[in-house]
Amino acid sequence: MKDTAPVTAEDLRAEILRHLTYTMGKDAAHASVYDWRLALSHAIRDRIVEPWFAATRRTWDEGRKRVYYLSMEFLIGRILEDAAINLGLHAAAEAALASLGVDFRAVVEDEPDAALGNGGLGRLAACYMESMATLGCPGYGYGIRYEHGLFRQRFDDGRQVESPEDWLTQRHPWEFERPEASYEIGFKGEVTRVDGRAVWRPAETVLAEAHDTPVVGWSGAWANTLRLWAAKPTTLFDLERFNRGDYTAAAAPETLARTLARVLYPDDTTYAGKELRLKQEYFLTSAAIQDILRRHLAAGFALDDLPAHVAIQMNDTHPAIAGPELIRLLVDVHGMEFEAALSITTRCLGYTNHTLLPEALERWAHYLMGAVLPRHLQIIEEIDAWHLRQHPKRPHWVGIVKHHEVRMGDLAFITAHKVNGVSALHSDLVRQNLFPDLDRLHPGRILNVTNGITPRRWLRLANPALSGLISDTIGPGWEADLDRLVDLEAHLGDAGFLSAFAAAKRTNKVALSNWIARSQGLEVDPDALFDVQVKRIHEYKRQLLNILETIAHWHAIRANPTAGWVPRVKIFGGKAAPGYMAAKEIIRLINDVANVLNNDPFTRDLLKVVYPANYNVSMAERLVPAADLSEQISTAGKEASGTGNMKFALNGALTIGTLDGANVEIRARVGAENFFLFGLTTEEVAEVRKDPDHARNAILASQPMQDVLQMIAEGRFSPDDPTRYHGLVHNIWHSDYFLVASDFAAYAEAQRRVDETFADPSRWWPMAALNTARMGFFSSDRAIRSYMSEIWETGSAL
Ligand SMILES: *Cc1c(COP(=O)(O)O)cnc(C)c1O
Repeated sequence: MKDTAPVTAEDLRAEILRHLTYTMGKDAAHASVYDWRLALSHAIRDRIVEPWFAATRRTWDEGRKRVYYLSMEFLIGRILEDAAINLGLHAAAEAALASLGVDFRAVVEDEPDAALGNGGLGRLAACYMESMATLGCPGYGYGIRYEHGLFRQRFDDGRQVESPEDWLTQRHPWEFERPEASYEIGFKGEVTRVDGRAVWRPAETVLAEAHDTPVVGWSGAWANTLRLWAAKPTTLFDLERFNRGDYTAAAAPETLARTLARVLYPDDTTYAGKELRLKQEYFLTSAAIQDILRRHLAAGFALDDLPAHVAIQMNDTHPAIAGPELIRLLVDVHGMEFEAALSITTRCLGYTNHTLLPEALERWAHYLMGAVLPRHLQIIEEIDAWHLRQHPKRPHWVGIVKHHEVRMGDLAFITAHKVNGVSALHSDLVRQNLFPDLDRLHPGRILNVTNGITPRRWLRLANPALSGLISDTIGPGWEADLDRLVDLEAHLGDAGFLSAFAAAKRTNKVALSNWIARSQGLEVDPDALFDVQVKRIHEYKRQLLNILETIAHWHAIRANPTAGWVPRVKIFGGKAAPGYMAAKEIIRLINDVANVLNNDPFTRDLLKVVYPANYNVSMAERLVPAADLSEQISTAGKEASGTGNMKFALNGALTIGTLDGANVEIRARVGAENFFLFGLTTEEVAEVRKDPDHARNAILASQPMQDVLQMIAEGRFSPDDPTRYHGLVHNIWHSDYFLVASDFAAYAEAQRRVDETFADPSRWWPMAALNTARMGFFSSDRAIRSYMSEIWETGSAL
């Protein structure tokens, strides 16, 4: 794209002052951090508009295929610093603010996180948007503009307490409201036949109104759009009813609209059989599909040519109503034959599977689907019947509608031309366990695209110390060509490089220690081993295994305080879904244990537990660069990929982990000797579960495990309420579905290998630096290239 003159700090300073005056209406003498942030954000945003327009124009002019990424979640985080970095304006922004006597970091940290997601799935969507822009892949992200993103977490007496996230109470400077781009979305009502055609008359309607946020890629060469739909009432209120005094009924359209986009469901690991959730999914999907068709027709293309111009990716099954919705519009509105519409639909759609957990697979009751989306239910049944005609030998248990339920995974599979898993192991399990029959009927439809993370945010932005060292060592440009990190390997024998690598890590650990002191009131030693497990709290992720081993370690230190222990800081972070009681109990246990350990004068210099509340993208940006050890310890076969594991390894942390998700590929790349492996494999997990006494036997075989469970059961960590954890302990003894007991001894042993290695810097730092050097594969640019060539069949416009 065209070169623009470099922007200097002086230019930017003038633009910041202009926005402060004319956009914010503030005088520099009275401006708050908030005013400065908005002034700077507008100044930076102005710089995105040009490449954004240019990219849009070019896509139209060249008739390029567009990719539409449909996701119920986009866990974006802060935008300002990321945009400044991608535009090459970071230094200029810092200098411009400094010349005005304003602290750049304070301004950056004033921005609330756009927390429109739960965890990995939503963060993946955000990384993919950034990589699509970096690679010049024309595209749109489609999501919901939730008024409240994921809840805010605090701890009250160690217990999680949720409050609503209010990210939109302040002005959101990154979006452009598009009242002209709005679509009517219907629910419920009746389907009749008129001249052989189905006519759906919805009983309820809302308007989906677009809000566009530009997403600029590395070096500012290309920008795409994240289009989030806000819900608006179709009529402000029913005046007739209002005048009759029926105020509640008069406000019904407004209530529906307010409710629809109000909250993000705080759990993506369980299926929410709720009418509101189904309405949200359809709201996003219908608005997106209507927008896609409008754009296609406005360009003068024929509907038959849709697959040549449109690729639609479904991020999990949440938008899987996309198939029936596209067919409905093609058939009912545009008069196409069903089979032709279905053929067009499958060629446009791709489906990414994110989970094997049975409780997360979406299934809607037949009556609910029929009540909320009556026309779609007819189409779904037609698709199912068509599929059976195509495959008359289809086993009787295969199908979309079974046992009075609509199975969204099967629907997504059948209406997509490609179905992908998110790591090599996960994709194999999708083939073998989730869709074995559909895989046989459609050989080649399932493929793997291992997840990735954007190195701009997760290395360049989050870790300036290491980024600087990398640029000094291998030269600039690695941000857009992460495979170049292998060039670091030539320096692994160089003592100067290794000590600089260790120094960068120490800088980050000092910064984190200062933040922990400020925010948690806890002193931690930056020379201790920083051991980090941050992610959603879930039984399969096994934070419980980590805290039990922490207790065992504390017990061992107390028994032998002078044994030359390696000092450790155990850092936890993560939210539990508000209704997930087992996860909330684990949170409380971690906080209770922290309280005892951090106040034990005999051990507190050797072992501390820190659990800052409200883990989000911004907190991840502080923690990841400062970690020595990355905890990726899920029960094998349960974590589809993980992306946290990639962030940590990229930033030079070593992994302690099971053979699960992308851990398998991380280990293959860094080498078995540079990864602390432990635990049962997926096959062994299945074997062990066959023995009903597996937990009991494992506990009886491990004295430390027995001691730990006894201490918890005796109330050592809950002296005010000694029976608090009786249920938890009982559950480990008698059920332990996630095999904490069976993996405990191997995990504890692996932790001692970690200590031994950390105690020898001549071993640790080459291993840490090698992790960074070998992480090129996990760039989301690689993942997006793979989607572009293998699923979307599209090229770069750059
Ligand atoms: C990367 C990330 C996740 C995903 O972490 P996993 O360890 O892969 O589960 C979740 N939340 C946030 C804020 C993240 O940045």
